[in-house]
Amino acid sequence: MSDTESRDFIRQIIHDDLESGKHSQIVTRFPPEPNGYLHIGHVMSICLNFGVAAETAGRTFLRFDDTNPGRESEEYVDAIERDVRWLGFDWDDRLTHASDYFDRLYDAATELVKLGVAYVDSLSADEIREYRGTLTEPGKNSPHRDRSVAENLDLLARMRSGEFADGEHLLRAKIDMASPNMNLRDPALYRIRHISHQRSGDNWCIYPMYDFAHGLSDAFEEITHSLCTLEFEDHRPLYDWFLDQLRPEHRPRQIEFSRLNLAYAITSKRKLNALVEEGIVEGWDDPRMPTIAGMRRRGYPAVALREFVKRGGVTKKDKLIEMGVLENCVRESLGDDSQRRMAVLRPLKVVLTNYPEDHVEMMQAMNHPGRPELGTRELAFSRELWIEQDDFMEEAPKKFFRLKPGGEVRLRFGYIIRCDEVLKNDAGEVTELHCSYDTDTRSGTGSSDRKVKGTIHWVSCAHAIDANVRLYDRLFTEANPNSADDLHAVLNRDSLESVVAKLEASLADLDAGEPVQFERLGYFCVDSEENSADSRVFNRIVTLRDSWAKLEKQAMQQQA
Ligand code: ATP
Ligand code: MG
Repeated sequence: MSDTESRDFIRQIIHDDLESGKHSQIVTRFPPEPNGYLHIGHVMSICLNFGVAAETAGRTFLRFDDTNPGRESEEYVDAIERDVRWLGFDWDDRLTHASDYFDRLYDAATELVKLGVAYVDSLSADEIREYRGTLTEPGKNSPHRDRSVAENLDLLARMRSGEFADGEHLLRAKIDMASPNMNLRDPALYRIRHISHQRSGDNWCIYPMYDFAHGLSDAFEEITHSLCTLEFEDHRPLYDWFLDQLRPEHRPRQIEFSRLNLAYAITSKRKLNALVEEGIVEGWDDPRMPTIAGMRRRGYPAVALREFVKRGGVTKKDKLIEMGVLENCVRESLGDDSQRRMAVLRPLKVVLTNYPEDHVEMMQAMNHPGRPELGTRELAFSRELWIEQDDFMEEAPKKFFRLKPGGEVRLRFGYIIRCDEVLKNDAGEVTELHCSYDTDTRSGTGSSDRKVKGTIHWVSCAHAIDANVRLYDRLFTEANPNSADDLHAVLNRDSLESVVAKLEASLADLDAGEPVQFERLGYFCVDSEENSADSRVFNRIVTLRDSWAKLEKQAMQQQA
């Protein structure tokens, strides 16, 4: 951590704590609740927690906050581990669960009772709500607040042994029912829930509340800096209260930072779950999802996600980052290494009437224009070719440098061709172009160095393979769907378009997940789930240019 200028406020605190000798080693944790897949917001928290530890030769725990049986599952646990690892981080043997500490947490709760700062309440849920007061009115004490330590210990033990039904009693901290901070109005520590836990089975019928379990787990693991999002700022007095009462040997410090929000995306596991449950997307790893699993399947490299959160920074200010920033990171990380290939997404047939039938030439195509060391490959060229429909215009404006009637264009790595005739069906749609090629203009070797303004891509009809190519668009029509009351109202119904494309033959053996650039079209990869030998499925990872910026500009102009 030598670069002072790039040090955010959390890294500055950590730096100071190391300098002053307050800590000799930094210990952090990433504490997801296993109730869904991780999303782009979590990427920020992961990079921060694992990042600051890695930069200072510290340690990081991956701790599952599994105190809500019923909502949580091992599927989510596995997915979270896979995603954190894929992002490039490692917890060694520091994989823990809040449930690992159920015994210790219960002992700590007993300790609070003995200290006279926790009590068993027997009000109903409705009464508890009523007694709590409001933001403007103080709460009032429960009639059970002054139970003796002995009575509280007895009731707590009986809660634990299963004598009572759900909701009959509640263990609460005894703090201050008149506190302006609602979190300090005798918060719950343990509730009765007769439900099995995915790890501890039926050992427990009482479960600790998040604030209590979280702060103490931090202390048990000797976390030095407990980094969390701003909504926990109001919980910090409670976090500190638990530590004050129990005086653990290691006292962690909670520091809050602002959440990362991505425009046109949702960063809430609950809402993402609704999209999955309702079948609006194909699953948690649908390539349109802002989940780590979805982005990985889409083809985003881990390094692009890490770079993205780095650019977002760590602050206390609200942030909604443009999708274009993420896509630029993806483009930048793919540009240097991805090999170029030819593919036609919306094919239009071109017949070269002066090219011999059954003749095939092998053209040398560079795999990467900026990196000759990546070599060349052969592209078959023949009489019938596919070109992109929108590379032809019948009534073209002056500045249209692609193909038009009577006009010329260069076929990349091929010849210059001229459009002689336009064939149409009964509906008046263009079905085929008859063109002629200039025999002297073979790319690289032609005797003529004649130049034309436009160059387009193509594939040979006889040699092309078919593939389903999925073109993704934003899932939502609103920049901030997180704040929409009804997600359905802001869904983009056209977020997935599937086309049957024509690809150069070499793409038949591309490995799933390996990114390539389809020339002039964008970056693509073979889908890791749906693909099979006889049905190739490609995902568009990202377009070549920032189409988002253009959309934003259009939206602004419409508003103006
Ligand atoms: P969600 O609402 O999606 O369930 P959460 O905060 O409840 O989010 P957790 O599993 O509790 O999900 O999150 C684990 C950690 O990730 C927490 O420390 C949380 O603060 C952090 N985190 C969650 N969302 C974001 C975000 N959008 N930006 C930064 N950090 C986040
Ligand atoms: Mg949470």
